[in-house]
Amino acid sequence: ETHKETLGFQTEVKQLLQLMIHSLYSNQEIFLRELVSNASDAIDNLRFQAIARPELLEGQGEPRIRISTDKDAGTVTIEDNGIGMNRDEVVANLGTIARSGTAELLRGMTGEQKKDSQLIGQFGVGFYSSFIVADKVEVFTRRAGAPADEGVHWSSNGEGEFDIATLDKPEPGTRIVLHLKEDTREFADDWRLRGIIKRYADHIGAAIEMPKQDDDGKAGDEWESVNDASALWTRPRNDVTDEEYRSFYQHTAHDFEDPLAWSHNKVEGNLEYTSLLYVPGRAGFDLYHRDASHGLKLYVQRVFITDRADQFLPHYLRFIRGVVDSSDLSLNVSREILQNSPVIGSMKTALTKRVLDMLGKLANDDAEKYAKFWDQFGEVLKEGPAEDFGNTEKIAALFRFASTFDDSGKPSVALADYVGRMKDGQDKIYYLIGESHTQLQGSPHLEVFRKKGVEVLLLSDRIDEWMMGYLREFDSKSFVDISRGDLDLGSLDSSEDKAALEEAAKASEGLVGRIKTALGDQVSDVRVSHRLTESPAVLAAGEHDVGAQMRQILEATGQ
Ligand code: ADP
Ligand code: MG
Repeated sequence: ETHKETLGFQTEVKQLLQLMIHSLYSNQEIFLRELVSNASDAIDNLRFQAIARPELLEGQGEPRIRISTDKDAGTVTIEDNGIGMNRDEVVANLGTIARSGTAELLRGMTGEQKKDSQLIGQFGVGFYSSFIVADKVEVFTRRAGAPADEGVHWSSNGEGEFDIATLDKPEPGTRIVLHLKEDTREFADDWRLRGIIKRYADHIGAAIEMPKQDDDGKAGDEWESVNDASALWTRPRNDVTDEEYRSFYQHTAHDFEDPLAWSHNKVEGNLEYTSLLYVPGRAGFDLYHRDASHGLKLYVQRVFITDRADQFLPHYLRFIRGVVDSSDLSLNVSREILQNSPVIGSMKTALTKRVLDMLGKLANDDAEKYAKFWDQFGEVLKEGPAEDFGNTEKIAALFRFASTFDDSGKPSVALADYVGRMKDGQDKIYYLIGESHTQLQGSPHLEVFRKKGVEVLLLSDRIDEWMMGYLREFDSKSFVDISRGDLDLGSLDSSEDKAALEEAAKASEGLVGRIKTALGDQVSDVRVSHRLTESPAVLAAGEHDVGAQMRQILEATGQ
């Protein structure tokens, strides 16, 4: 070995390592999932680059991941013939974390095992999860296409520093050796590992091989494949079990939890592609990060192209995970082509519809799961009407609101429910926006509606006022903000009501005039209103004024 060096981990890595070892205590076996997933990514990556430069394959033959154990030494070894890494890449990839929002995430840790393990699960622990089971990790790697003497040896005990050196490595790719801790030595067992592979990695496209056992259960020199090695999405739907769909999700989304729903479709004809889309059970930590990347895994004829293809779904559906495999795109597809291709445009339209249908079905079939979905992703979905005109009605049908007809304050009312129980003569959907449900419930604006028994939707998400600016109608009924302008209740007001109001207005002319003079420029008008049954007065916004919520947002951003 030459060029030896000892380097420190980036602070975030040190923190992550400590937290991870502590909080993932009951999920130890995920290290194997993470390492196999990296090996599989490295293989995909090499295959992709070899399209343009076949010499990178170095005559290596079939892509494969080999896993072996040594009981006496207490080690697990995972080796792939993928792309490998050069020295700079090793330092960057195995010494730092490049993802945006990492520091924030780490600050959010509570020290409580269950909560932290969920947070960390959302984040995806990746390579560093090796240290959950190992007290020393060694990586031997060489970049495909680089000279044999540019191999790299990385090793660390996970405590703050790592050693790095140059060594000869004749074959390209990466070998990782885990020296197990005293209390995790159980993992140095072929059968134990086979079981974990079945659970987490059966559907990995590359072959996963382990030493063939002879009759006495001894490992020989031959290797045998231990996974199914068929890309799961290429299989017919009724051939795939729910369990397989779930574990494929956990692998693709790096989530410990089960997805809420999925939709697997093969499209033939004009456009040919397969999609497998999932609704996660919870929001990723970077859902609202501006510079975070989102998207689906894109394959072209089963060759992996990119991890985060964000061209296939609109931004308001960025929480959807899964895979698209197209037969119509070229393998040399670039980002620019992806951006402008009409093929992608048609796929996006179709996939968007699929997702909206999948969510609609979830809402119909399983109210409890849908409530969970809404809790996690409702606010993102509310970005929809502004982004996707064509689907506004479909998106709106998925919304859930709190309402004066449900004291729980939970967002439980669908617009279809509302419309279904509208009063005779009611042709509008009434809503009120405020800061919190409690504040809304006490609003004097509601008095007349309570009296007449008319339902009002109560909106208190930050995004609501902005969103309602794009949502004009549902089921041909227009929306009315009850805090604005002259409230015309249409035929909900009987002619006696109207006559009474006119009379009251006449009788109060003098009083109204005096109030106007007293308030001067502070208000634009003073009117006698039928809004109130108990409170003497209420502040109402003009028809076209910026609402209270929007005004606060604008003030907060200094406008
Ligand atoms: P992620 O896979 O989410 O990028 P990881 O922590 O799992 O995060 O891996 C960090 C990076 O290290 C990978 O993105 C990849 O560049 C590199 N890497 C890890 N394992 C391998 C491997 N077996 N072969 C080549 N590169 C690898
Ligand atoms: Mg990884």
